[in-house]
Amino acid sequence: MLIAKITQYEILEVILMKVVVCIKQTPSTTADFSVAGGKVSWDDPGGKPNVLNPWDEYAIEEGIRFKENHGASDTVAITLGDESSQDALKTCLAMGCTEAILLSDPAFAGSDTLGTARILAAAIKKADAQIALFGKSAIDGDTGQTVVQTARKLGWTPLTFVSEIKEVSDASITVERLSDEGKETVTAPLPVVIGTVKELNEPRYPSFMGIRKANRATIPAWSAADLDIDGAYGAAASKVDWSHVYTMPAREGEVEMITGDSAADMAEELVDKLFEEKVI
Ligand SMILES: Cc1cc2nc3c(=O)[nH]c(=O)nc-3n(C[C@H](O)[C@H](O)[C@H](O)COP(=O)(O)OP(=O)(O)OC[C@H]3O[C@@H](n4cnc5c(N)ncnc54)[C@H](O)[C@@H]3O)c2cc1C
Repeated sequence: MLIAKITQYEILEVILMKVVVCIKQTPSTTADFSVAGGKVSWDDPGGKPNVLNPWDEYAIEEGIRFKENHGASDTVAITLGDESSQDALKTCLAMGCTEAILLSDPAFAGSDTLGTARILAAAIKKADAQIALFGKSAIDGDTGQTVVQTARKLGWTPLTFVSEIKEVSDASITVERLSDEGKETVTAPLPVVIGTVKELNEPRYPSFMGIRKANRATIPAWSAADLDIDGAYGAAASKVDWSHVYTMPAREGEVEMITGDSAADMAEELVDKLFEEKVI
């Protein structure tokens, strides 16, 4: 009888807890872009390799912990991008994700955040997940909008700025959220979308065995035809148009070196000038 109960409980957890982590491949934080004619040289990041969006490392770490600590059956990394985004997915596999899926189709290109959210929501539904984790933002687009827009498209509760997972059951989750005023504890029924912050955990490094396994992995690709996408996406459907991007004009200014016989003399002259310029 006891064995039957345990088996039933385990089956319940395995069925109910599948975690998806949405990640993005971004330029390195040291990438060196130029802007010409209103366009960014995305294809020429100054010789710096693209990376897994640094904020997403916290989401991946937590996704793996859902499997290690809360009985999740799978931690699936998903990205919408081109073929090269497989590199970021392989980093996720090397860290410990059980699966990775690339969403790729020429029709997806040029999607704004809402189009991206529609595609991601369809993929999360197809993956049959109950928890979708995201990073705080992507360091290139940096809107932070994709998290809540995906939650809206799914009709799931968005839990943003999550700094601690406190309790997980097969029906609900309790988390701690960071706010400007402090912290708050929130409980929501599953399914949920979780936006993470760096206070949540310390992301692990990919293990040697993980890297070898990831390098051998074949990553499945889902196209538009594989997904039941609710709403429009792609360049033509984008309400936001990155039509003109420009660099900030160089700052203009003059430098005046103050000289004097002693530090006290120079300090006095500096104070006089600051008064003159009404800085103090
Ligand atoms: C070359 C290029 C051209 C673009 N052109 C346009 C344009 O014309 N109009 C326009 O509105 N936008 C354009 N974008 C921006 C694009 O819409 C956004 O990059 C994208 O929708 C995500 O927004 P974000 O980068 O602000 O991510 P955020 O909302 O800051 O990211 C939040 C979270 O969502 C995840 N996430 C974001 N994107 C993805 C993804 N693709 N797959 C999985 N998870 C993801 C992040 O990893 C992060 O965890 C362009 C981007 C690029 C690189």
